[in-house]
Amino acid sequence: MLSLESLTNNCLMSIMPGASSQKPLQHKVAIVTGSSYGIGLAIARRLARDGAHVLLSSRNLENVEKAVQMLKAEGLSVSGTQCHVGKKEDRDKLVATALEQYGKIDILICNAAVNPFVGPIFETTEEMWKKVFHVNVISTFFLIKLVVPHIQKQGSGSIIICSSFIGYIPHPYVGPYSITKTALLGLTNVLAQSLRFMNIRVNGLAIGLINTSFSKVIRNTPVLQSKLIPLGVYRFGEPEECAGIASFLCSEDASYINGENIAVTGGIRGRL
Ligand code: NAP
Repeated sequence: MLSLESLTNNCLMSIMPGASSQKPLQHKVAIVTGSSYGIGLAIARRLARDGAHVLLSSRNLENVEKAVQMLKAEGLSVSGTQCHVGKKEDRDKLVATALEQYGKIDILICNAAVNPFVGPIFETTEEMWKKVFHVNVISTFFLIKLVVPHIQKQGSGSIIICSSFIGYIPHPYVGPYSITKTALLGLTNVLAQSLRFMNIRVNGLAIGLINTSFSKVIRNTPVLQSKLIPLGVYRFGEPEECAGIASFLCSEDASYINGENIAVTGGIRGRL
């Protein structure tokens, strides 16, 4: 039976005092989903710059290979594999590849997501709802479930779930997508409570409007654009502006931060 004292000692042992000369994620192994471009790629690059070995992945192997080549040319320790997060066999392969290549997993960044429809909510179909919930929410949970026993073997670790400010202020024009992001805010909280006794922290990013291919649809939809200024949007953020906070949350500097969804929005209100 675990006592509070032994749990505290375990946690403190995993925090390395005097490690300031090391990179914050030195020797850690990280998996990042949806990391061939956009925010996932920026997070993968930052984790690797901060010392981690990073396994990149996405649906399209060519995209992954291009990203891996680019980061390797920057001298970073990265590799890549194909993983459509909605496919169980791909998730299994992702985890197996990380273990084969690096022998362990310390960090998982759940970044991949889809938004199959923009428009009035009553024009959405059952298929769209199934797809967006399957990829964004259900697959995120089942990938985490697959990875947790491996992080547990390390004695500590960190999971980040990429949600959105729109999870707090859902919009009917991106109805099903925004509701999946609300679900991810809740998932972060539930998993943090479930895994804290394993010394595994689960935090989320409530991401604002970031300059990627994903947000093109907002830039190109006047009805959505007209909503932005009243929300307080004064500029789009850059993917790199999400990457540092992800790395920080995985580092020992964040060792007592758990179950938080951090708004990375440039000031758009990110709370229910
Ligand atoms: P993005 O530029 O479209 O990049 C998406 C990445 O995910 C790509 O690497 C893509 O690569 C991959 N991907 C797409 N579907 C996938 C799937 N089913 N399985 C695995 N990989 C998949 O998007 P982003 O803007 O970086 O968004 C990243 C995350 O931030 C998402 O969770 C999104 O909801 C969230 N977010 C973004 C914004 C924004 O303004 N950009 C705002 C709020 C939240 P392939 O095409 O090679 O598969």
